[in-house]
Amino acid sequence: MNILVLNSGSSSVKFQVIETDLDLIAKSGDKKLASGIIERIGSESIISFKAEGNPPVKQTAPIRDHKIAIDKIVKWIISKEANVPNIKSLKDIHAVGHRMVHGGEKFTRSVMLNEQIIRDIEDCIELAPLHNPANLKGVYAVNDIFGNGVPQIAVFDTAFHHTMPDHAYLYAIPYQMYRRYKVRRYGFHGTSHRYVAYRYRLLNNLPKKQVNVITLHLGNGSSVCAIKNGNSIDTSMGMTPLEGLIMGTRSGDVDPAIIQFLSHKEGYSLAEVESILNKESGLLGISGLTNDMREIIAEAEEHDDRRAKLAITMYCYRIRKYIGSYIAAIGNVQALIFTGGIGENSDLIRAKICEGMEIMGIKIDQDKNKELHGKEGLFSDDKSAVALWSIPTNEELLIARDTVRCIEKAPLP
Ligand code: ADP
Repeated sequence: MNILVLNSGSSSVKFQVIETDLDLIAKSGDKKLASGIIERIGSESIISFKAEGNPPVKQTAPIRDHKIAIDKIVKWIISKEANVPNIKSLKDIHAVGHRMVHGGEKFTRSVMLNEQIIRDIEDCIELAPLHNPANLKGVYAVNDIFGNGVPQIAVFDTAFHHTMPDHAYLYAIPYQMYRRYKVRRYGFHGTSHRYVAYRYRLLNNLPKKQVNVITLHLGNGSSVCAIKNGNSIDTSMGMTPLEGLIMGTRSGDVDPAIIQFLSHKEGYSLAEVESILNKESGLLGISGLTNDMREIIAEAEEHDDRRAKLAITMYCYRIRKYIGSYIAAIGNVQALIFTGGIGENSDLIRAKICEGMEIMGIKIDQDKNKELHGKEGLFSDDKSAVALWSIPTNEELLIARDTVRCIEKAPLP
């Protein structure tokens, strides 16, 4: 089956076309056929497409909305010019898998979409006002472009974390706030944490139940997950993706009393303070320069910039604190797994996170660490009790596989 995987964000749509079916899943024989992204939807958009085996295509064009963006993607996929293997018309795209950010308490697994399910996802918008509406635009656009002729599946970022116990997902606020409004920790990046844990299991030939690891998704958004017996038992993001680690522009954990304090001092509305915590904080807020870790490292190294160095130190320190607490939560941790743009690519950040952690059984091999950029590999010292892995994430693959499983009514992991 040829699966179109869509990740519709607020101003971008990323896609992949993946050939997979139950046999190919069993043999890990799935194949990426094409991929791309349309960025800056709503203005002069940047379009990047690539069919496997062909050179990438880059262009700019004004693209008004998600429907026009997805229409452009689909027309390119089926075009002669793209030359995607085995795809010549709409009929050759057999199903669409959507990344959906928030599934609330209702969606603990991937689901086939129908009108009722779409309404239920719309009901989760209150919990994810920044994300779910954009994801749903992708669903509406596919409905318009394909009619009812193509099955659509939603794969939720929150779903992997549904195994968290109540003592981990509840906030210590009056219990009726949870009962009335479902105020609780949901966690995000679940498909990424799930993928790297699955990859680790394959690499080490372990059954799922024997996987006890900490996964670190370190990208523009960052989160940590404690995985015990193959299940998520805690994660750093909360009811929204604002909680936890320091991120590109998000503060992560802060004292909630700061909100009232800043609002009072600066005359901000609550929405304005929340926007500062989401969009002007994190690496950007501390460095005063950028949210981009590569640029922060360059400023620190080339110009010895004090605040760039401070941003790096704070970023790594917060992660170390979470690692310590998740070792306490899991007990016998076998491995730390680094993924995401920073986790996969930055040997410097990985080294700083692991610095002085021998007491926790974590000992890095500096040479192996320096070799690993964007590829899979082990970088712990042979004497390290905890293995250190870098594993590039592949959320799209799991979305494509869940899409096949939903269509074939096969069990979902
Ligand atoms: P998103 O959360 O938007 O998917 P990514 O996972 O692509 O983000 O991660 C983006 C982050 O990864 C940026 O901060 C970028 O600077 C950082 N990054 C990418 N390559 C490197 C590198 N070689 N060294 C340090 N940081 C890097």
